[in-house]
Amino acid sequence: MTDFVDNVAFIGLGAMGYAMAKNIRKKMAPTGTLYVFDVFGRVCEKFRDEFKSFGPIVIVESPKEAAAMSQTIISIVPGAKEVRDVYLNNNSGVIVAPKNEDRLIMECSTIDSQSSREVGQALGTAGTGKYIDTPVSTRMQGGVPGADSGTLSFLIGHSKPSDTDPISHRLEKVATMMGNPKKFFYCGKLGAGLAAKISNNYLSCSILLAVAEAMAIGIRSGVDEKLLHEVIQNSTGQNFMADVVQPVPGVVPDAPSSNNYRLGFKTQMMIKDLGLGVDAGYATGIKPTMAEAAYRVYENAAVDPKCIDRDGSSVYLHITTTQEDHQE
Ligand code: NAD
Repeated sequence: MTDFVDNVAFIGLGAMGYAMAKNIRKKMAPTGTLYVFDVFGRVCEKFRDEFKSFGPIVIVESPKEAAAMSQTIISIVPGAKEVRDVYLNNNSGVIVAPKNEDRLIMECSTIDSQSSREVGQALGTAGTGKYIDTPVSTRMQGGVPGADSGTLSFLIGHSKPSDTDPISHRLEKVATMMGNPKKFFYCGKLGAGLAAKISNNYLSCSILLAVAEAMAIGIRSGVDEKLLHEVIQNSTGQNFMADVVQPVPGVVPDAPSSNNYRLGFKTQMMIKDLGLGVDAGYATGIKPTMAEAAYRVYENAAVDPKCIDRDGSSVYLHITTTQEDHQE
C-alpha cells in the first residue's frame, strides 16, 4: 500500500516554502515523489537541483496537476489573492483536479480567516480535498530560520488529533516534518488557526513600535540606552520584542538592529500583518485602535529608504529621524 507521504505536493517555494519543502523532501520516504509548483519556475529548477539527491522531485505545470498526483498538498504563497488562484482558479486550480475527499490540504500562508473559510468550503463542496488553515509562526523575528531548522510552530484550524478523525493524524505527521509538535496549537475549526495568528501579529507588530517609541523617548530624555533596556526588562514593560528584537542598535547584541537591521521580518511585511489585524478588528466589532495607529507609522516606514527591505525594527530609525518637529 502506498503511504500518504509517498506523494506530496508543495506549492510556493519562496523564503518560507523553499526551506519547508526542503524538510519535507529530506524526511519523506526516499522512494516517494515530491511535486513542486511555483509561478516563478526558475525556483523550482533550483530546488530540484539542490535536493534531488534525497529522492524524486517533479516540477508540475499547475496546482491542478500537483493535486492530481498527490494525497497531500502544502502551500505557502504571499496572500489571499494567490491562495484563491492556487485553489479556486477554474482552469489551473486544485478545485478542478480529480475528486479526492481524503486529500489533505495544509495552507500555511498568512491571510484573513474569511478567505480561508471560503476556499475551504468551496473545495469541500467540490470534493477535491480537506482544506485546513495551518499558518506558521516562531518565537523569532521572522520565520525563515524556524522554517529552515524544521522547528516551526503551526496554528491549526482543526481539532486535536483523534482516532475518529484519521486526517488529523496525517496532518500531525506532515507538520512534524516541518515543525516542533510541542508548538502545534489546535484551534478547533476552519479559519481559527489564522484568527490566532492574526491576533498574535497584531500584538507583536504594535508592541515593536511601542518599544521603539518608548526607547527613543527615554534616550532623548537623557537615560543611557542599555540602562533603559535593563530597567524595562526588570519592570512591568518587559516583553519579547524589547528583550530579543530590541530596535535600538548596540543594546542587544543578537538583535537585528545591532546587525545593520538584518532580516528578520521585512518592514513592508508589517503593513500586511497589521492590515489583517485592523480588518479582523472591524470584522469582529472590536475597534483596532493600536493596530490602526501602528499601521499609519509603518505605512510611512515601508517607503523610507532607511527601512525598506530591512527588519521591521528599523522603524526606530524612521521615528527618530522624521519626528523632530513633534518636540514642543
Ligand atoms: P515569498 O514572497 O518569499 O514567497 C512566496 C512564493 O509564492 C514565491 O516564490 C512566489 O513566486 C510564489 N507564488 C506567488 N503566487 C503564486 C501562485 N499563484 N501560485 C504558486 N506560487 C505563487 O513569501 P514568504 O516570505 O515565503 O511568505 C509566504 C507566506 O508566509 C506569506 O503569507 C507570509 O505572510 C507568511 N509568513 C512569512 C514569514 C516570514 O518570515 N517570511 C513568517 C511567517 C509567515
